Amino acid sequence: MLTDLTLTEARQRLRAGEISAVELTQAHLERIRALDPQVRAYLTVTEERALAAAEEADRRLATGDNAPLLGLPLAIKDVLTTEGVVTTAGSRVLEGFVPPYTATAVQRLLEAGAVMLGKTNTDEFAMGSSTENSGYFVTHNPWDLERVPGGSSGGSAAAVAARMALGALGTDTGGSVRQPAAFCGVSTVKPTYGRVSRYGLIAFASSLDQVGVFGRTVEDTALLLSVMAGHDPHDSTSLDVPVPDYMAALSGEIAGLRVGVPREYFIEGMQPEVEQAVRAAIAQLEALGADVREISLPHTEYALPVYYLVAPSEASANLARFDGVRYGPRENGRTLWETYKATRGQRFGAEVKRRIMLGTYALSAGYYDAYYLKAQKVRTLIKQDFDRAFADVDVIATPTTPTTAFRIGEKTDDPLQMYLSDVFTLAASLAGICGAVVPCGFDGQGLPIGLQILGPALGEEIVLRTAHAYQQSTDWHTRTPPLG
Ligand code: GLN
Repeated sequence: MLTDLTLTEARQRLRAGEISAVELTQAHLERIRALDPQVRAYLTVTEERALAAAEEADRRLATGDNAPLLGLPLAIKDVLTTEGVVTTAGSRVLEGFVPPYTATAVQRLLEAGAVMLGKTNTDEFAMGSSTENSGYFVTHNPWDLERVPGGSSGGSAAAVAARMALGALGTDTGGSVRQPAAFCGVSTVKPTYGRVSRYGLIAFASSLDQVGVFGRTVEDTALLLSVMAGHDPHDSTSLDVPVPDYMAALSGEIAGLRVGVPREYFIEGMQPEVEQAVRAAIAQLEALGADVREISLPHTEYALPVYYLVAPSEASANLARFDGVRYGPRENGRTLWETYKATRGQRFGAEVKRRIMLGTYALSAGYYDAYYLKAQKVRTLIKQDFDRAFADVDVIATPTTPTTAFRIGEKTDDPLQMYLSDVFTLAASLAGICGAVVPCGFDGQGLPIGLQILGPALGEEIVLRTAHAYQQSTDWHTRTPPLG
């Protein structure tokens, strides 16, 4: 089936003229029609635009144009703006909102010839770990429809796992591409903060948000990242440094690579099958010639409380702009104040309101020093843990999540339990470093497990090289969810 191809395989076939972009796009649209009523990965399917883009790609392919993503169908998380296409961030506060411009990350894919299939479901403003906080509907895990796909980029991860897109964009603030990649059995990269432009990424926590990529292989994620990365004058935090050739980094060679395994990432209460699979994956890296050693990241336990002060503080400021006047629909009140109250009160979901309240409290005079400022100081200690570790090792290997995908509804009444599903991803976000996740096994119920490989700032090449070498020597990524 055409939908079983990887991105790189499809690219070769398109260039060789063995398949057409229209055929490839049709095959994905048909699969979306057949399976998405169960999976519910897409908020919007842009069928007409996709077919028009595919026709254009076929014309260009016929002239020998070799733009890097020409004719390849991809899905885009609905927190990235797309000119002329409804963009909601999973929120009712942006219901029907049509942005006037396209996010730089998306624009670069489109300029490289990619075909956008549609916009994928997300937790509202990317706040969540299960996609259950979407203001629209819940996305289901393709491996078990009664379970969550993870979040907040659950729609994109599920779309790639279910073969309803060859690749996808997500965003990661505290784990939102890594955790769903682990839950859905796909590969992902969370780039270094500043590596990819945030222009057009609807802000949740500006000092943490990064655009990430999903693919069925590490090679596919490397291809997408190489197109998307690089300086953008529209984002003052985007780094003005050269972008390496990520595909060239995939040598398959990791002999002598120093891999650190932090003891703080194997904790009581984690699912034994997850620990076993991750330890087996680390043994596999050793078998490939890596030099594995135990390390310590002593401030790991503070990552969760620090994140849940810093992220809500930034969110409370970023979300002030949604007032029923500037963007999206309005709930009219008798006075301006009542209009604000009605719009925000009726259209923000419970988790978003919780975070606005937490953040407003942490930033308020009298509490600022005790909470926000203290959290920033501990954030520095967490970053220094990684700086020290990367003086001795090239990459750090850890579990991605303490458990495999949980049941829909299992954690919705207990926000703290939900927050704990990101304990292994938050610290890297606070430190601004990069990481990848690759499938490394399944639990007894057939649910995927992910290996997280972290690298230093701007260390995407070494992370991708490690992840690729591991993937080449295993076949976890080739399994298909039991759908349809
Ligand atoms: N689950 C974390 C949160 O709820 C991270 C989300 C994200 O990375 N966008 O904030």
